[in-house]
This record gives sequence, C-alpha cells and structure tokens, in this order.
Amino acid sequence: MPKHTAPVKKNEIISLHFEDLTHEGSGVGKIDGYPLFVPQALPGEEGRVKVVKANKNFGFGKLLELTKESPERIEPVCDDKCNGCGLQHMSYNLQLEMKQNQVKNAMKKIAHLDHVPVHPIIGMDKPMHYRNKVQIPVGEKNGKLITGFYQKRSHHIIENTETCVTHNEVINEVVKAVRDISNRYGIKPYNEKDHRGVLRHIMVRTGGKTKDVMVVLVTRTNKLPHKEELINELTAQFPHLKSIVHNVNSKQTNVILGDKTEVVWGDAYIHDKIGDITFAISAKSFYQVNPSQTKKLYNKALEYAAIDHNDLVIDAYCGIGTISLFLAQKAKKVYGVEVVPEAISDAKKNAKMNGITNAEFFVGEAEKVMPWWKAQGLNPDVIVVDPPRKGCDEELLQAMIEMQPKRIVYVSCNPSTLARDLRILEDGGFQTQEVQPVDMFPLTPHIESVCWLER
Ligand code: SAH
Repeated sequence: MPKHTAPVKKNEIISLHFEDLTHEGSGVGKIDGYPLFVPQALPGEEGRVKVVKANKNFGFGKLLELTKESPERIEPVCDDKCNGCGLQHMSYNLQLEMKQNQVKNAMKKIAHLDHVPVHPIIGMDKPMHYRNKVQIPVGEKNGKLITGFYQKRSHHIIENTETCVTHNEVINEVVKAVRDISNRYGIKPYNEKDHRGVLRHIMVRTGGKTKDVMVVLVTRTNKLPHKEELINELTAQFPHLKSIVHNVNSKQTNVILGDKTEVVWGDAYIHDKIGDITFAISAKSFYQVNPSQTKKLYNKALEYAAIDHNDLVIDAYCGIGTISLFLAQKAKKVYGVEVVPEAISDAKKNAKMNGITNAEFFVGEAEKVMPWWKAQGLNPDVIVVDPPRKGCDEELLQAMIEMQPKRIVYVSCNPSTLARDLRILEDGGFQTQEVQPVDMFPLTPHIESVCWLER
C-alpha cells in the first residue's frame, strides 16, 4: 500500500479551477476529487498554484498567478498580514453569500435540519469602520514603542495595522495618540521575551450612539508612568473621552487584561444607547462590537422571543444585560446569568438606570446555574441563550430541555456549535423554526445567527 494517496506532491506547480470556499474563505479546487485549499482564490477562478502541503485526504496551496478572475474579486484595502480580515478580496455580496451558505450547510450536515428556513443574511450598508472595541499589542522597534496587530501565527507586530479599516475611526486616532505620547515621554514597551518593559496593550472602546470613549492602558508594572501627562494630553485631544482605566497584568500570559483595574480619570464605564435603553459598559464587560448590526440582531431575537406580559424569561450568557432589559420591557420577570462579575454589576446598574425593576442578575456559569434553577423549580416560559463560540454545555442544554419552556431563542457566533446544539434540543423535544444570520463582522469570516425554536 502506498503511504499516501495524494495526487499531488509538495512544491509541485499545477493549474487549478476553483469551485468553492472554505469556512475561512480560502478557494477550494479539486484534482480527481482531492481538495486543495488555496487562500485568496475565489469560486469560478482559475490559476497556477504551488502545493505547500499534501496530506492524505486534502492539501494546501499558494496562489501564484490568476489565469481567470472572478467578477466578484475586488481590490483589498490592506494586505491582511495579520489575517484578521481575510475576506477583503471578495465583493461584499460574495461575503454575504458565503456566510449564508455556511449556515445552510451547518444546518444540513450537522443538525440534519434541511427543511428549516435560513433567511438571507442581514448585511451592512457600509461594511467598514464598524468595530467599537479594539485591543492593540505594544512592542518595540529600533528603540521606539510601536503598536499594531501580530502577524499571522506569530507575536511579531506589524506596524500601522492598528489603523485597520474595520475600526471606528476615533479608535485609530486614540491608539496613535497613546503611542506618540508614550514615545515622547519614553514609556517602555513591554517585551514578552524577557518579561520586561511596561506598556503591553492599548484597549479602546467607543459608544456607537453616544461617541463616548474609554481607554484602557495595560501595563506589566503596578505603576503607570507619566500618568498625569497621559491624562492631560488625551483629555485635551479627545473631547468624547469619558474614562481612562489602568489595568495591571504582571503575568507571563497571552491573556490581555490582568486582575487589577483602576480608574485613573473619569468614570469606570462609558455609555451607549440601543433603541430606547442606555447601557453602561465597563472595561471587562462584553459588549457587541458592531453597533448598527447589534440593533438588527436584537430586534430579531426579540421578535423570535415573542414575549407575553405573563412570561418568565431566562437570558443565559447575558453580559451587561443588553438582551435581558429589552425582554424585561415585555415580560413579567427576567433572570439573567453571566460569568463575569463586572458585567453583572453593569447589568444591575443598567436595569436601575433605565427604571427596569423586573430583571434580576446572577454571577455564575450558566451550565451550573441553570440546573440549579431547575432544581429550585424555576420554570421559564422563554429561554434566550447567547453563548461564546464553543456553544452551550451539555448540562445547560439538558437543563433547558427539562425546564420545558415553550420557546428558545439561540443567538450564536458559530454556526457549527449552533447546529450541534440544535440537534440536541431537537432530540429533546424542540422544533427549530427559522434561522436568521446577521453580518456582525464584515471582511472577516465570522458569522452570527439568531435561531427560533418551539416546543
Ligand atoms: N448577550 C450578551 C453577551 C453575549 S457574549 C450580549 O449580547 O451583549 C457571551 C457572554 O457569555 C459573555 O459576556 C461572556 O462573559 C459570557 N460567558 C462565557 N462563558 C460563560 C459561562 N460558562 N456562563 C455564563 N456566561 C458565560
């Protein structure tokens, strides 16, 4: 038996016709049924490809030259060295089509729910400058402090990528200002090799509606050098600045924020407004990154939840209570659960600030709290879940099934885990009604969906 059956060898140069796209947006071309994944190639295109890896069942190639171009190809805004926005060579229509197809495929292949309608993805009018939060690594080059994203699969900082086209413009301005001020006062960049130096990351967050700005300066040291100068210059330059936070991360770790957070100027949070509700958001809390699309996502989630004034509702993975408070405007009572204590304290503040008295928030792991609520006899009419990419834990899915709500709304940032969990909920007595993808992350391969199930 030959050791491998790949029809191509590493370093071989071949001609390839591309017929499909992978999850990450690479082109897929086949040789005698053997798929080769080639970054930057689009369906319908043809080109010369160098094989860079030939596994037994699939391989990877590098596009050397295009011999036939797709009409959906557009000029990328940047060269995407950081691998953050890998879909820039695609028209926005093709990006949307690709994401739509991925949700459909996951529903078919993983959930075995071919019949469930997947509605056309809701896109943005202008798919740029949407991100309201950025965390930029700090490094050193020729004795100067530099900022920029890491190069793909490395911790090498690529200069000037901090001005990414997905960012809200004010964020880029603030990052540049912190960098320049730091250089002027000789604030040392952190060096992760010998775990020395000071400034590790610059995090900036802004409110889509309010334009409020928060800067978080993450240092290895307990002291923030030139604190007064940083405060004076940043506040003079940015009238919308509402909060400057110093976070200390003295560990040797890839985790960005450390445990110690101190407000050095202004408030501990910024505000943003979605619809008629105002939210306070502190440094460590999750908040959706694309404000205009968030509204569309939440509207759909609320429509699917179809809350009645007698309903008891659970919002699991509730963050700062964004979805919970909209639910509470219609429901009898809402319980929110979330693992980050700072987010729950924001959620409580947000309920109060908006005069909402029928929402209660709890710190804990949703997969532990839900079974406990079940054991206490809590029987919600509607459950909303919005888990991170890994989806819901088995224990949480089981608790939902046992609680027998009439309806579940599942907000997901990963179609594969959504489909996996839908299969379990279907087997537990729920029927998936509809899926609505929403493009929260244009130019990147990430996909958000909201899904409606009835018991
Ligand atoms: N629904 C919110 C937050 C969604 S993001 C919104 O739209 O803003 C997912 C949230 O789940 C984050 O706030 C994260 O901190 C939280 N989380 C992650 N793992 C968790 C767990 N095991 N239990 C509860 N919350 C968790």
